[in-house]
Amino acid sequence: MPEPAVSRSNTAENARVLNNILLHLDCDAVDVFHLNEIQNLLMHDRSSKGRAYISVLKYCFTALRNGFHDRPTTSTMWSECTDPALMLDHLGGLISERKLRLFAVACCRNVPHLLNDEQSRTSVEVSERYADGLANAAELAIAESRARAAWHSQEDCDSPAACAAVTSAEEAARNAAWNAFCDRDGMGKEVNQSALLRCIAGNPFHFPKLDPTWVTPTVISAAQQMYESRDFSAMPVLGDALHEAGCEVAEILEHCRGRWPHVRGCWVVDQVLGKE
Ligand SMILES: [Zn+2]
Repeated sequence: MPEPAVSRSNTAENARVLNNILLHLDCDAVDVFHLNEIQNLLMHDRSSKGRAYISVLKYCFTALRNGFHDRPTTSTMWSECTDPALMLDHLGGLISERKLRLFAVACCRNVPHLLNDEQSRTSVEVSERYADGLANAAELAIAESRARAAWHSQEDCDSPAACAAVTSAEEAARNAAWNAFCDRDGMGKEVNQSALLRCIAGNPFHFPKLDPTWVTPTVISAAQQMYESRDFSAMPVLGDALHEAGCEVAEILEHCRGRWPHVRGCWVVDQVLGKE
């Protein structure tokens, strides 16, 4: 194995250099030799963030090799995409701030071991209430600063719970996902986050609408119970109720009956409850 060109491990320096790389990737000012050098820099960095950067680098290598075509541009690519950042890029203005915030909340709840202090858990709850208009901006700001003050991670990633409570919903979504992802030993894996984002956003390339005649009292009651309890195990029941009411749309029924994770903001449940 060839000797790495640079073998020192300095996390702050790594972060600075990698940020530069990421900034320049889009303008083609970076070639594969630069990436190799960064990889060497990170080789001995065993921190969560260091390992997360290594996986970002893998994406950079692929992107340099294949061109920047990984952002989903078709319905099938959307269904198969495993990178929440690329999915968020595509969503741009296509998704409400409420849904972006609920995605941040879902990413946090996916890494419960990173919510092991009261302030972090409260921050996630306040962010969730804020998404539904049940908390105000001042409460959100307090939750963010308290969660940040309580964050005692040995790792150098930021608190996902504090990120979920920042003012901008777009930033909350990206940074809660990123910092949960930095925890490579937990549940913050990109593949899980992509599935959560698909539950919340649906498929922007093909988004079937619910017919109001399918929204029967049984359908509403099933959706309401799941939303309130955050227990979405009755999704197949909702699927059956929609089917009974006349829904034959495969995407809707499959979303209810398939083995995906569901969270607050689920595109089918939201349509039943008239939420956006
Ligand atoms: Zn769902």
